[in-house]
Amino acid sequence: MASSHLAPNYAPLPVVLAQGKGSWVTDVKGKTYFDALAGYSALNFGHLNPELIATAKQQLDTLTLTSRAFDNNLLDPFSDALCELAGTEMMLPMNSGAEAVETALKAMRRWGHLVRGVEPEEGIIIVADGNFHGRTLAIISFSTDPVAHDGYGPFAPGFRIVPYGDLAAFEAALTPEVVGVLIEPIQGEAGVIIPPDDYLPGVQKLCNEHNVLLTLDEIQSGLGRTGKTFARELTGTEPDLMCLGKALGGGIMPVSAVTGRADVLDLFTAGTHGSTFGGNPLACAIGLKVCEILESGVWQKAATELGVGFSERLQGFVDEGLLIAQRSVGLWAGIDLDPRCGSGRQLCETLMERGVLAKDTHGLTVRLAPPLTTSTEDLDWMLDRLEESLRQFVC
Ligand SMILES: *Cc1c(COP(=O)(O)O)cnc(C)c1O
Repeated sequence: MASSHLAPNYAPLPVVLAQGKGSWVTDVKGKTYFDALAGYSALNFGHLNPELIATAKQQLDTLTLTSRAFDNNLLDPFSDALCELAGTEMMLPMNSGAEAVETALKAMRRWGHLVRGVEPEEGIIIVADGNFHGRTLAIISFSTDPVAHDGYGPFAPGFRIVPYGDLAAFEAALTPEVVGVLIEPIQGEAGVIIPPDDYLPGVQKLCNEHNVLLTLDEIQSGLGRTGKTFARELTGTEPDLMCLGKALGGGIMPVSAVTGRADVLDLFTAGTHGSTFGGNPLACAIGLKVCEILESGVWQKAATELGVGFSERLQGFVDEGLLIAQRSVGLWAGIDLDPRCGSGRQLCETLMERGVLAKDTHGLTVRLAPPLTTSTEDLDWMLDRLEESLRQFVC
């Protein structure tokens, strides 16, 4: 329940959670719900994942924080494992997703000045319409969502917004001052918007031709959600930098990173960037375990396999007229409601009554992102509750 001491920057569903396990959470009254949001994909491996919790507990008894003024014994193992997983050369650890994005923006601008020789104050970074990259002032400066953006000016300059998924518009925006591109391989917050198959490879090719850096924000799409370790693999796209976060913290704490080319991340020198908590031993221990879990491929495979029935079922709802549209990949879906029948918020309230927690986005869309560790039975149970709720909604 809203407390008068709590700033009202969220409008949560009227449920107060007290416990979690796997795909399920229990509220203070003892009612159990299937968690179909999974912390916006921060809980890809479920609530209280036994391996991750054991790792965290062990590290809590060992060493939790050193600051980067001193190294800790898990920094190298974590960076090695993450670079191995990402198939890349270097990483820089931060905490929240927004900090990873800020780090990538700074890296691209720094490279623009030092390597490309673009004048200070002139480097431009291209971003996409409908983007979501976090909540800091620089990031919301180029948000096209009025709710996230309006009222926070003056805004950070140096960003150019192009329509998402439109390669010709992207090419037209590539003027000589452009040093970098920041883009989501699939737009999560916008409602799981999947661009045309040739879009990301096309963006990559144009970036190479124009000597522009490509950063993919895989904070929500990465780490197994789509059935691949990274969504970029779906189209064979090779970015220069990648932002990771959310599930990298194992559902326990914020852990984020930028991964990518050594000749770009190497341009940061002592003091030119940093974070008090970034790369702390507890975060490294958890991040390392997340890499090990993903290295096995078990949950990517589960997302792919469960994803087949998931998308078939959702498409069935569309074919029957219960939904206007569905977009899904792996265990990730955006479903669009008929505006005449009710809002996304209303559907989420109905789902909640039936024991499923989900989150609406942009009015008429509901995002579904169950933990990848969900069983077929539990997923079916959730989809049965969704079907009942949608039938209740038919108008
Ligand atoms: C959630 C998210 C972020 C921001 O992460 P925080 O940890 O909330 O700062 C950035 N980019 C994408 C694509 C996200 O989904």
